[in-house]
Amino acid sequence: MTIILDGKKVAAILKEELKREITTVKEIGYEPKLAVMLVGEDPASVAYAKFLGKVSSNAGVLFELYQMVKSSSEEEIKQKINKLNCDPAVHGILMMMPLPPHVNKQRIMEEISPLKDVDGLHPFNRGHLISGGKCLHPATPLSCLEILKRSGISLAGKHMVVVGRGETVGKPLIFMALAENCTVTVCHSKTDDLSKFTKQADIVISAVGKPGLITADMIRPGAVVVDAGISDIDGNIIGDVDFEQVKEIATAITPVPGGVGSLTTVLMLKNVLKGIELQMESKIGVKPTC
Ligand code: NAP
Repeated sequence: MTIILDGKKVAAILKEELKREITTVKEIGYEPKLAVMLVGEDPASVAYAKFLGKVSSNAGVLFELYQMVKSSSEEEIKQKINKLNCDPAVHGILMMMPLPPHVNKQRIMEEISPLKDVDGLHPFNRGHLISGGKCLHPATPLSCLEILKRSGISLAGKHMVVVGRGETVGKPLIFMALAENCTVTVCHSKTDDLSKFTKQADIVISAVGKPGLITADMIRPGAVVVDAGISDIDGNIIGDVDFEQVKEIATAITPVPGGVGSLTTVLMLKNVLKGIELQMESKIGVKPTC
């Protein structure tokens, strides 16, 4: 029988774990705080920031939203980031995307202290993700691996085929899966005969954003399928995988919604706590730029 990997169930376990971790850091004098920066009024970002505020306060993480007008200059945004970098009461900083077109995303991400970069996008965190150093990992690829591990699916020695090499999910996932001792194959839009590769996989993880890309004939019977893709079709959230057909072939599969996406917020809040650990140690060579 196929196992439906229930993201909400796993998220509930992670939330309990997070609460216990928060109690521990509070005992040593820290009040974990996440600062979220929003430049402009992108409706999806506004909605997510509100949701994040609710989840944070439910979990016991202080939350503050810093909203700046869309016309803010890059310099003004950097100044605000630096204030947050230097504020010892702030342990995590999240910059909501997209930024207005006149602002350079890369320069902004590099301004955030790597020790407070809960999105794991700073080149310092990216570098350590590859080299295996202690750092903050991005929440979505973390979710892909956590949902497997927490469901008792082992990773070591498995052949994982990652479909998509995007900066948010696919690319970091490659190195995170290698660190879990998977044998990793990476496919992308220029891959010739995608199914030739997916059919060889013990685990297929799709992170593309194309509904119906992964069909049943592309999956080896007994394989595990994780769908990180998200597309908004007429207000419905759809994954990359043809869930109804593929679930007849796979041993385990994540639904969309209710799969990978259910874990990302709690994992980002866990990054706030990991940030506190890194800030306490500050052994990794980079301090907040104050
Ligand atoms: P991205 O940067 O747009 O990357 C998409 C990747 O898919 C690219 O590497 C692209 O190949 C590849 N691709 C496109 N068409 C393909 C095809 N026909 N066959 C194979 N590969 C193909 O995306 P991302 O930011 O990494 O995000 C990936 C997906 O995850 C999106 O659907 C996004 O919405 C979703 N997401 C989900 C969550 C969550 O919480 N569940 C969070 C963040 C993102 P090339 O490199 O050759 O162009």
